[in-house]
Amino acid sequence: MSQPHSQPPCQPPCQPMTPTDRLNRISEDAMCIGCGLCQSVAGPDVVRMEIVESGYERPVVRGDLTHEVVDRILDLCPGTRVEGLPVNELTGDTRTDLVWGAYQDMVLGHASDPEVRHRGSTGGVLSALGMFLVDSGEVDFVLHVKASGRVPSFGERAVSQTAAEVLNGAGSRYGPTAPLIDVLEQLDKGRPFAFVGKPCDIGALRNLARQDNRVNELVKYMLTPVCGGFMPPQGMSRFLEQDLGLNPSEVTGFRYRGYGCPGPTRVEMADGSVHEKRYTDFWGTEESMWVLPFRCKVCPDGIGEAADIAASDTWPGGSPDPATEDDDLGLNAMVIRSARGADLVQRAVQAGYLTVTETVDPRYMDSVQPHQRNKKYAVGARYEGLRAEGKTVPRTARLRLDALIADLGPEQAAFQRDGTRDRVRIGKASEPTPKAKG
Ligand SMILES: Cc1cc2nc3c(=O)[nH]c(=O)nc-3n(C[C@H](O)[C@H](O)[C@H](O)COP(=O)(O)OP(=O)(O)OC[C@H]3O[C@@H](n4cnc5c(N)ncnc54)[C@H](O)[C@@H]3O)c2cc1C
Ligand code: SF4
Ligand code: SF4
Repeated sequence: MSQPHSQPPCQPPCQPMTPTDRLNRISEDAMCIGCGLCQSVAGPDVVRMEIVESGYERPVVRGDLTHEVVDRILDLCPGTRVEGLPVNELTGDTRTDLVWGAYQDMVLGHASDPEVRHRGSTGGVLSALGMFLVDSGEVDFVLHVKASGRVPSFGERAVSQTAAEVLNGAGSRYGPTAPLIDVLEQLDKGRPFAFVGKPCDIGALRNLARQDNRVNELVKYMLTPVCGGFMPPQGMSRFLEQDLGLNPSEVTGFRYRGYGCPGPTRVEMADGSVHEKRYTDFWGTEESMWVLPFRCKVCPDGIGEAADIAASDTWPGGSPDPATEDDDLGLNAMVIRSARGADLVQRAVQAGYLTVTETVDPRYMDSVQPHQRNKKYAVGARYEGLRAEGKTVPRTARLRLDALIADLGPEQAAFQRDGTRDRVRIGKASEPTPKAKG
């Protein structure tokens, strides 16, 4: 079976690519986001997520990989295919905004329980929804992530069957995280569950739904944080070694956010010492200071277009004010995209898990997420730059990229396209062939 995909054709003279070359190309073109779905599809004896030379987790080929399996992966991988909300989730009440996509409603709110609100990354909305779903018995478990037991700054997939377990995964993980590493095994259980993952993880799961009917049968809700990207491993080493003077190999615990909004960035060491910095020390106070993986800089959907509900921060201008960040109780914006998402919010409010305070609109979302708005406009042109340089470009659908380029205007589009070409030429869109470290 040969599937259409988004890898560029080889230029003559060219050797036919092996299945391993074709899978590796996703990582080499810096399009892998480390979701883990390819491991689940190929099986861990054939493809395994491992920490590679760059410090990221990448799929490493370990066994006999066939073209058929790679065709399947290229059809599912969020590095090669990204789509908006499935057409069958659109209803008569669906509105569409050029930047923010399909939505039923946009509201502000927080977890009703003060402890959940406090421990949550922002206002604890995603945790509160997961807790409501397991407590009500509507789902058997929530598939999401928690702090990694192996590498403290990473995340790892969590299967939470109780509200306490769901709450244990609260807080954003701004390190490499593979929530879909065994998603086929989760589907094999034949039990209803909810999935919480980044927009690219949700996109991967929606892609899987086209190949595997069990996704739509068993995954009752897909919930996501609005996502600007995460801290690359090199940025993390710099933070630990240069900013804090710590030895990364002696870190035993790492919390990025939560216990306030955003709460302190907290590092625990083998000698029992604890070091805390502010969120604004970790990320910087403005967008130009953010260090991000290349895939995140060309992400066509950081706003969770394929999710039932996308939850975000609500800081004016997109970053917390260092003068007030220690006192913020946490308030999420929720972009409710599907009718099932709207129904879930309503029932979670009635059951006392969630508090909704007011309705907002897409221009409010622009004001608290200017970086998302800017990237959404720029991405189509950035893809033109990638394409011109012969790089892998994700196939997209229902994300309005052409309309956004048209609205951006030719001058800005050329600036974005040419800037991307320049970045490709200096190697910013390249990673080494994935090989396990050591
Ligand atoms: C990588 C990343 C980038 C982000 N960028 C933005 C941004 O640009 N703008 C913005 O407004 N908000 C951003 N956020 C979202 C914000 O930090 C909050 O997560 C969001 O507002 C939800 O808050 P909450 O209190 O409802 O979440 P919580 O109640 O704390 O629940 C968070 C849920 O997300 C899951 N989760 C955490 N980290 C990951 C991960 N790495 N991969 C998959 N699942 C994860 C947890 O398992 C938990 O279930 C980002 C989050 C992440 C993880
Ligand atoms: S993005 Fe996910 S599916 Fe694609 S190569 Fe990376 S780990 Fe595999
Ligand atoms: S910015 Fe996009 S690609 Fe990067 S982690 Fe977030 S959703 Fe995934």
